Amino acid sequence: MNVRSEMEKLVKTLSEYQRAYYVDSKPLVSDMEYDRLYDELVRLEKEHPDLVLPDSPTRRVGSDLSNDFPEFRHTIPVLSLDKAYSRDEVISFMDKTIAKEQRNLSFVAEEKIDGISMVLYYEKGILVRGVTRGNGEIGNDVTQNIKTIGSIPLRLSEDIDIAVRGEVFLSKEAFLEVNSRLDEDKKAANPRNLAAGTVRRQKSSEAASVPLDIFCYEGFWKEGENTPESHLEILSYLKHLGFKINPHLACFSESKEKSEAMLRSAGLEGRSYSFSEMQDYIDFKTGERKGLKYEIDGLVFKVNEIRVRERLGYTEHHPRWAIAYKFESPQAVSKLLSISVQVGRTGRITPVAELEPVALGGSTIRRATLHNQEYIDNLELAIGDTVSIVKRGDVIPQVEDVIEKNEEGNTVYKIDMHCPCCHSVLEKDGAHLFCRNPECPEQQLGALTFFSSRTQMDIETLGPKTIKIFYDAGLLRKVEDIYTANYASLLGTRGIGEKTVSAIVESVNESKNRPFKTVLSSLGISEVGKKSAEILVSGGFDSFERLKTAKEEELMAIDGIGEKMARIIVESFKNPQLLETVEKLGKAGLHMSVSDDGQDSTESYEQSFAGTLWCVTGSFKNFNPRSKAMEEVEKRGGRTTTSVSGKTTHLLAGTGGGGKLKDAERLGVKIVSEEEFLRMLGKGEEKSAEKEGQLELF
Ligand code: NAD
Repeated sequence: MNVRSEMEKLVKTLSEYQRAYYVDSKPLVSDMEYDRLYDELVRLEKEHPDLVLPDSPTRRVGSDLSNDFPEFRHTIPVLSLDKAYSRDEVISFMDKTIAKEQRNLSFVAEEKIDGISMVLYYEKGILVRGVTRGNGEIGNDVTQNIKTIGSIPLRLSEDIDIAVRGEVFLSKEAFLEVNSRLDEDKKAANPRNLAAGTVRRQKSSEAASVPLDIFCYEGFWKEGENTPESHLEILSYLKHLGFKINPHLACFSESKEKSEAMLRSAGLEGRSYSFSEMQDYIDFKTGERKGLKYEIDGLVFKVNEIRVRERLGYTEHHPRWAIAYKFESPQAVSKLLSISVQVGRTGRITPVAELEPVALGGSTIRRATLHNQEYIDNLELAIGDTVSIVKRGDVIPQVEDVIEKNEEGNTVYKIDMHCPCCHSVLEKDGAHLFCRNPECPEQQLGALTFFSSRTQMDIETLGPKTIKIFYDAGLLRKVEDIYTANYASLLGTRGIGEKTVSAIVESVNESKNRPFKTVLSSLGISEVGKKSAEILVSGGFDSFERLKTAKEEELMAIDGIGEKMARIIVESFKNPQLLETVEKLGKAGLHMSVSDDGQDSTESYEQSFAGTLWCVTGSFKNFNPRSKAMEEVEKRGGRTTTSVSGKTTHLLAGTGGGGKLKDAERLGVKIVSEEEFLRMLGKGEEKSAEKEGQLELF
């Protein structure tokens, strides 16, 4: 079948499934199967944007519109949600949103109630209409039926006009009770279907016999009226007006304390987290889910700041300021062709399944993790087996189960006990195998790549491919070599020109300014990542000298450092190889203590931007992400803002800046180009376009 007809078929099938699900409340397939087909359509549409059909379900929300009830045109956007199946997808959504806004944001997480979407319209505090989501623009007026739901207030505590979104649902207990009373042919498969059918009953007395409930989660005030500034405030206000709010909330921000304070100031219950605790939250909710009185099919993460939401806006299908994490991720079925074995930078061995390519979650999967030998043994996995694959908890897909054994008689796969790279004998530690040879090339390459990566020392010209070239030439072995290698010795070979060499030297030198905690977390000491480096520093272990003499008890006295981490840190700083690395990095001029960081602190910058307010728009050669430009302004005493107003003094304009440029012109704000900005920083043109193209040099 060609791509066009495949896409047409998917659109037709999904539309049939939507009708059965939304209108008839009698799904023809499982949600997982629906989501699998939907994701496949998303993938094809991404690859062939010219073939997207106007009636594609990816372009509008699944419609529950029927002729049985009067229609009503919504006055607010009533859309679906974008979805994610893994923690990393949620984090990536948050990171991208923060980068787009160039400022810290907070997010509210709510349970995704598996029910029916409902919009309640109030005029002067009186419920005038209850309307289904419909096609997102027009819904069915089911006011009489939803008036039977006790938790929907008919009159609010204030005489205001407001539209409120909520999810109508049936508790698990009520579902079992009501379903047991129904004739066999009328029984529903789950609480959601029974709730959907009830909302669409012709007689409201029948609807009243089912104890439906609602949780409200969004409020829309009339334009110009005082919309609260945050989602938490909206929820708090809705509660005050008399709506039922789900108390199982969570707030995410840079720190747990800040999240806690935000919940408290909104007068709401809830759990507080820092961004780095996302996995803890997902694990907690996954465990809690079964014991809840109602069904949830995921978690919804929403930007808390309402002005940011307004800027981000909506696609035809979903808001850009929210994402739904789904507990159940679609599965794909494939055949295990072979197993390759990878060596990580710590020497850990990971078996990886090489699969027949298969579509899953909007991408083509060729490889999936098998974790370790125990995992393979538990699955009794052999080459040639047919397996199911899921994306869960992590973006890396994993082999979930064996569906059919191979016919070739292959037996359970056993990892060779020799390192696939250096052939040293592997050692078992817990569930994993390790290569303990410190000279193992894969480990050395992994350590070098990790050290210079963007989230660590950020040496932008030394990406994995470039590192490999210098490694193969024998110039790089250990991270300290990065600062002493004679990069020019490869001049004229392997495509390395003078510009390449000077770009590398420049970014290597620039990386010497990274703060102590970054140097510490870049060494790849197990258990010492960014978060623990931060904890160590604030616990007084703010120099390598101090860490070298650290005692386990002292470390364990710090909040956030457990026994295992304390032991590893003490052992690591007795390791002569690590000590040698630290000494050489110190000699190269890297920051060996927090007091070294002070040399680059704001005080050493002339406060030449004092009294100015800068906004940044467009993209830049030298400031990627844009927040780097804002940091430069702030270091020099200037302030920054995300929108152009009468108070803005300068607009830094890169390529492609749109609306902000117009606002700046209209308001007479000084528009500064990137070149001019570099001159103001006293840096001149830092990076030519040519250099930029060489960031990953090879
Ligand atoms: P969705 O279920 O993925 O999510 C969007 C909806 O979540 C919102 O419209 C809202 O009603 C609801 N929601 C619940 N709690 C919320 C909260 N706290 N905040 C915001 N929204 C909340 O999207 P959808 O468009 O309603 O349905 C698509 C999904 O429905 C599919 O992914 C699939 O799982 C299922 N579906 C199944 C079939 C089938 O045949 N089995 C057919 C169509 C749809």
